[in-house]
Amino acid sequence: MNQTRHAGIWTIEDRCESTWHYLPFNVPAGTGALRVELDYDRSAAVLDLGCLGPAGFRGWSGGARRFFVIGADSATPGYLSGEPEPGTWLAVVGLHRIPAGGIKYELTASAAGNTAQASDPGPAQPVTDRPARRELPAEAGLTWLAGDLHAHTVHSDGAMTVRELARYAASRGLEFLAVTDHNTISHHGELPAASADHGIALLPGQEVTTEHGHANAFGDTGWIDFREPPDEWLACTERAGGLLSVNHPYGGQVSWTGVALELARSALDDAAGLVAGLAPGGDRRRRQRLAPAWL
Ligand SMILES: [Zn+2]
Repeated sequence: MNQTRHAGIWTIEDRCESTWHYLPFNVPAGTGALRVELDYDRSAAVLDLGCLGPAGFRGWSGGARRFFVIGADSATPGYLSGEPEPGTWLAVVGLHRIPAGGIKYELTASAAGNTAQASDPGPAQPVTDRPARRELPAEAGLTWLAGDLHAHTVHSDGAMTVRELARYAASRGLEFLAVTDHNTISHHGELPAASADHGIALLPGQEVTTEHGHANAFGDTGWIDFREPPDEWLACTERAGGLLSVNHPYGGQVSWTGVALELARSALDDAAGLVAGLAPGGDRRRRQRLAPAWL
């Protein structure tokens, strides 16, 4: 087994220099699986954890996990399975909350030849308790669909697997659901089967999540690099044919701030115009004033 160890202290100065720090480790040819563990006093600080391989993004778990495994056929939720290519990999550490005195850490990366087998999830449970469809009046040729544009699974900080969430959403009468795990797309591969098994349209998404604001990238856009500025999230999403939404812009600790604020403001203006154009009847100018409060 090939092992790399990094240890030290992250300080406030490190955080001021950059939110993101990179700890390299070597993956030799013939590696079937790798395991990375980040150890620190979790009662004193919050460190995020992710991974970049030589070919790019391999996963993200934020502050939700102590370790992750990437193997040829399976990976820890939040991470992309696939044979680990040989070369220099980077463990990404986000300095989310650092105490005044700094925080001691130890990161261990191990590469091994054998790989864990992907576990078979077994047959899907049929949805037998789906409520009757609600019919609402609509313009000719249009239909209202019940759905939700923001949900998380075990691929980030949610409690349910993709299949459990699909079953739950269908049993609550939803017809579509966007699965928008934080800063990762490792759930995308599970959506088509879960969608077919449970009779619900599952839309691929990613909640781009930073300290300066959150946004949902909808569509099969590939991974959106959250370390880039928000204008780049928008450009990448649109280039890939997706749609970007501003999430909870006035959401207390997760509000949009600083550099991200301009994008949030212009999105709110767009949304106000959209809502004013869609909503039937009433006073158009009043709806435009109200629309930002709805988001
Ligand atoms: Zn959010």
